[in-house]
Amino acid sequence: MPAPPCTSCHAARAALRRPRSGQALCGACFCTAFEAEVLHTVLTGRLLPPGAVVAVGASGGKDSTVLAHVLRELVPRLGISLQLVAVDEGIGGYRDAALAAVRRQAARWELPLTVVAYEDLFGGWTMDAVARSTAGSGRSRSCCTFCGVLRRRALEEGARRVGATHIVTGHNADDMAETVLMNFLRGDAGRLARGGGLGSPGEGGALPRCRPLQFASQKEVVLYAHFRRLDYFSEECVYAPEAFRGHARDLLKRLEAARPSAVLDLVHSAERLALAASARPPRPGSCSRCGALASRALCQACALLDGLNRGRPRLAIGKGRRGLDEEATPGTPRDPAQTPTPKAVPTF
Ligand code: SF4
Repeated sequence: MPAPPCTSCHAARAALRRPRSGQALCGACFCTAFEAEVLHTVLTGRLLPPGAVVAVGASGGKDSTVLAHVLRELVPRLGISLQLVAVDEGIGGYRDAALAAVRRQAARWELPLTVVAYEDLFGGWTMDAVARSTAGSGRSRSCCTFCGVLRRRALEEGARRVGATHIVTGHNADDMAETVLMNFLRGDAGRLARGGGLGSPGEGGALPRCRPLQFASQKEVVLYAHFRRLDYFSEECVYAPEAFRGHARDLLKRLEAARPSAVLDLVHSAERLALAASARPPRPGSCSRCGALASRALCQACALLDGLNRGRPRLAIGKGRRGLDEEATPGTPRDPAQTPTPKAVPTF
């Protein structure tokens, strides 16, 4: 049976049915609609004012590739300028290939690219070194806990280096829904309270961050990349299989099979979530070491690095964190075999 005509242009044959609305569209009309929806998200949320210098967190994966491409299309409408900022976590067999994809994108789209490396920013620590330290050998389920915190800090540093006024990341609706589920499952009221909305306004001197793809489903992100013939890196990080996020992803897939709107419902739930006064986390102060926003004596990045440098990485996560905060003094590595020789003083 031939495909039905596109319900938008009525000229071409439809190439897809939009997963949520069921609307039959040709590839060109789908891409136009997708871009218009991202524009709507940015404009209604007042995310990127005219004149903004926007650092796009570029990983080479599908989400950041689609985000950079869509924003590049929207530059004339938004009056912004773009900079690609990539983070090299130091993950052998993974990040080098992903960075090669980012370099190809930067060259093809004629966008400036800056790469910042954990090894340079965090006193010699790469993610592979962190993994060895946290697990003794090989991979650990806590890798993503460390990496998520350090990555956020590295992206901030990279964005500052290029004079950015705003940071955008490629998180899509599925990512957001997984995060909401994870925070519920962990009982993390603080993150739940911050998890809604389209980003953070830039508290405590941090650059404002936003997620223009927050309402775009993963399926549509992939479809957009397909129809625009985007070149992206699709392999999974070597540490990802052990991450807690995988459980939230599996649960979400089962929920979505029973209720197709589950992903967006969760994203909107987080937006509307209001915590009782007694459950609200205290107002954050500033880190005693680097000055970044912190809910304890040390911000998460400094606490993690402190634990690593002392040879007690697990002190920095979970219940051990309190003891680390109380000690909050520059650490002395306990196990030189696990601790890389610092090549640079952390720059934040
Ligand atoms: Fe980092 Fe985890 Fe992502 Fe790998 S999967 S890049 S370790 S956050």
